[in-house]
Amino acid sequence: SLPTGSLVDMIEDAVRRFRSKPALEFFGKSMTYGELGAEIGRAAEGLRRLGVKKGDRVALVLPNCPEHVVAFYAALRLGAVVVEHNPLYTARELRHQFEDHGARVVIAWDKVTDTVAGFPADLPLDAIVSVDITKSMPLSTRLALRLPVKKARTSRSALSSGTVTRGATTWSQLVSQGTLRKRHPRPDVHDLALLQYTSGTTGTPKGAQLSHFNLRSNAEQGRAWVPGLREGAEVFYGVLPLFHAYGMTLCLTFAMSMGARLVLFPKFDVDLVLSAFAKHPATFLPAVPPIYDALEREAERRKIDLSGIRYSISGAMSLPVSIVERWEESTGGLLVEGYGMTETSPVAVGNPIGPTRRPGTVGVPFPSTEIRVVDPENPSVDREPGEAGELLLRGPQVFSGYWNRPTDTAAVLDSDNWLRTGDIVEVSDDGFITVVDRVKELIVTGGFNVSPSEVEATLISHPDVREAAVVGLPLPSGGEQVAAAVVLKPGAVFDEIGLRDFCRHGLTAYKVPKRITVVDDLPRSLIGKVMRREVREAMLKKGA
Ligand code: ATP
Ligand code: MG
Repeated sequence: SLPTGSLVDMIEDAVRRFRSKPALEFFGKSMTYGELGAEIGRAAEGLRRLGVKKGDRVALVLPNCPEHVVAFYAALRLGAVVVEHNPLYTARELRHQFEDHGARVVIAWDKVTDTVAGFPADLPLDAIVSVDITKSMPLSTRLALRLPVKKARTSRSALSSGTVTRGATTWSQLVSQGTLRKRHPRPDVHDLALLQYTSGTTGTPKGAQLSHFNLRSNAEQGRAWVPGLREGAEVFYGVLPLFHAYGMTLCLTFAMSMGARLVLFPKFDVDLVLSAFAKHPATFLPAVPPIYDALEREAERRKIDLSGIRYSISGAMSLPVSIVERWEESTGGLLVEGYGMTETSPVAVGNPIGPTRRPGTVGVPFPSTEIRVVDPENPSVDREPGEAGELLLRGPQVFSGYWNRPTDTAAVLDSDNWLRTGDIVEVSDDGFITVVDRVKELIVTGGFNVSPSEVEATLISHPDVREAAVVGLPLPSGGEQVAAAVVLKPGAVFDEIGLRDFCRHGLTAYKVPKRITVVDDLPRSLIGKVMRREVREAMLKKGA
């Protein structure tokens, strides 16, 4: 069923139904749904007094913490549009995003408030609310997470940097001015709720416009996907960042919509997660392959029992079948892979939860989600059944375009609301989808298309290679040259010629990398995706 109310209606409904149940937990401090509802009302009043009105952008630059959740719903309550940011972005990256969205108010981790205060005077930004996330954290945790141990200087009424002075307040001041009146106008289900920047894997991150309807639809599609989840009885671990589309929906919206206890982690840390497990074992864990891999290894080493995690959902990058096997063995639960993108709120495809799931594929389209597979060069031409092509999607979770970017929007959304995913997929006879590559990362060499993931799979099958990233380097003649960066297994000795010979046995000549370099680590995005674009840039620099 499609949602008729906004995210504000959803959270208020949860507050009524699960009033005395725990909603959020952060380093041993917990907040019930009732307390969460009251705190949202106070934060909304604080934001109203800062002048936040319907349609205004409210920027959040926060790691996962209870204030993040409260601020999110408080801004939505006023009809504002939340803009999420990675708090580890550099000053320059953040400033570009603030120039793009023009938020009036920012709620920021106190580590970044000085950076934000120094943004150019011509930005509409006029109030900064700083949040100290370390208040309830033991000193040892602060040190382990490399968080500042000193008390932040937050009682000033203005933060100035050079010639710019911006109103400054603290979170505790924000929530100490009463509660928003019930009659204050509320957002509509079709209003914009969130500007969520894409990961920036293939270019500059773009602000995807997601409405209350998009986000709630995806949470409801998710509920239909994982029917075994019980209202008011689940423990979710929020190890994925809430400032990424994946964490926003699968940790936050999903948890709140079913009255779950959401245990928040400011960043993924194996020790933190395993020690939380001793207290409140997770029953539902959305994450990414490197997280399952790290948790399983460490739990195995320390003989920690992970049983109790009934459902684990992986996305954002492909999930190796070997990780599925190890994880299911150690938890006794299911680990299934889904596929999606920021532009789809974010999930569009998922493996069935149960015996019909097919590891190695991303499963089948979500309910109410239509797909087409087309020629990436000419998207009006459908592929023959079984033939690989670019995936198009249509459904209630599909966004309405990129903020301030009509050209980019027109390039991916057509007038019938079909979204071009930019991903090459194959669909089996019975409808299971396999993600092959990104269109933008296909390598064109001598008139042929080379799939980087096929070459990577060959390299990884070599006993000395742990990881590989394959890219195209431009040639003076116009085309591209296949090149690879590999991470070796401990103790292995790099033998470029031997590796290329090995590739020649499994790949046609034009696919064999002409250059292979060895690196200590592959560059990864915050959520753990390999950034082939950065591998390419590094190889170009090195070659020059
Ligand atoms: P940008 O759009 O800024 O270049 P991005 O596409 O990485 O960055 P996201 O929206 O976070 O930003 O990621 C969506 C992409 O992640 C998809 O288009 C797809 O390429 C990849 N992806 C998601 N799930 C999977 C999966 N299960 N297997 C393989 N790739 C996946
Ligand atoms: Mg993308």
